[in-house]
Amino acid sequence: MAVFSDPAFDNHERVLFCRDEATGLKAIIAIHSTALGPAAGGCRLWNYAGDSEALHDVLRLSQGMSYKNAMAGLRFGGGKAVIMKMPDFEGSEALFERFGEFVDSLGGDYITAEDVGMSVEIIQMISRRTRYVSGLPSDSGRAGGDPSPKTAWGVFCGIEAAVRARLGRNGLDGLKVAVQGVGNVGYHLCRFLHDAGVSLFASDIDDARVQRVREQFSATPVPLDEILFQDVDIVSPCALGAVLDASSIPRMRAKIVAGGANNQLSCDADGKQLADAGILYAPDYVINAGGIINVACEYYGDVDDAGVTELVTAIGPRLAGIFDEAAKSGEPTNVIADRQARKIIADAR
Ligand code: NAD
Repeated sequence: MAVFSDPAFDNHERVLFCRDEATGLKAIIAIHSTALGPAAGGCRLWNYAGDSEALHDVLRLSQGMSYKNAMAGLRFGGGKAVIMKMPDFEGSEALFERFGEFVDSLGGDYITAEDVGMSVEIIQMISRRTRYVSGLPSDSGRAGGDPSPKTAWGVFCGIEAAVRARLGRNGLDGLKVAVQGVGNVGYHLCRFLHDAGVSLFASDIDDARVQRVREQFSATPVPLDEILFQDVDIVSPCALGAVLDASSIPRMRAKIVAGGANNQLSCDADGKQLADAGILYAPDYVINAGGIINVACEYYGDVDDAGVTELVTAIGPRLAGIFDEAAKSGEPTNVIADRQARKIIADAR
């Protein structure tokens, strides 16, 4: 397994390989940058095909967190962790506690939180061994807990901004949105969109989740391999990454792509292909920063829940600025966001 020659390696400051035979823990923590503060980013629990795939993922995701935290104006650098779900994985309390010890060994340079495959209960197990963790249950009115409702709110605000920029109208009433993945983020997003008068189309590998949004928000179920190509105004990827690529983009009929999933583009050039096709793309790490804003406010303890919502709502104007610059310069939105993020990090260094 090569680290420095992995295409996702971007001068990461530190990569920690965590192995504990007794519990079966196999995890990797990647710290991309601490220029703006401790490296913060969730821990993903996933069934990787092998070590190289897990390493590539954590390198890519941690760089994304540096950009996300910088663009959200947080006092956080970028980091991420992955716990590998092996075939005999049991996920005992002892395993997550051991992971907490590895996080603790970094002395606060990495702050962990919830990502795909995790839960608040697991975060609580990790927190028995380290205080460098966020996303714990909170008292009412305080920042904290499951970050996905805040992520979904940020995506909703970003969709409103994209609609204003691309469709030239305020409000979402009567628009059609296709949501790929109706788990934590996708579900709450459907709730906000439904309340705003949107007609929903939804797919998920978990039928029960599709049924939930069908019953609660009148969403139309769509087969997995057709959701991105619906005749809708907006496609919202809220499952896993790399769904926008050279084969999917030409088949898309929406005018806007704006969703919560991380790493939606399979490569940077996909951003240009979307722009050339007249599809306005909301850069993923800008639009989906609501969760990490929630995490930051909980960690620093300086903003209450209403204050978090205010900070997350600012994702709309932030994206509007990027859309405006793209309209003026003709550059793809992902190129503009990357440049802005890199400048914020470089200035901090
Ligand atoms: P989740 O696991 O709760 O939901 C993901 C959903 O996608 C699940 O219901 C899963 O069954 C479904 N899914 C998986 N593959 C699919 C496919 N091919 N087609 C359709 N559905 C599929 O995770 P989540 O917390 O909702 O996160 C969703 C995405 O948003 C991830 O990319 C995550 O990294 C990103 N994200 C989440 C947060 C957060 O606050 N939870 C914050 C920022 C970014």
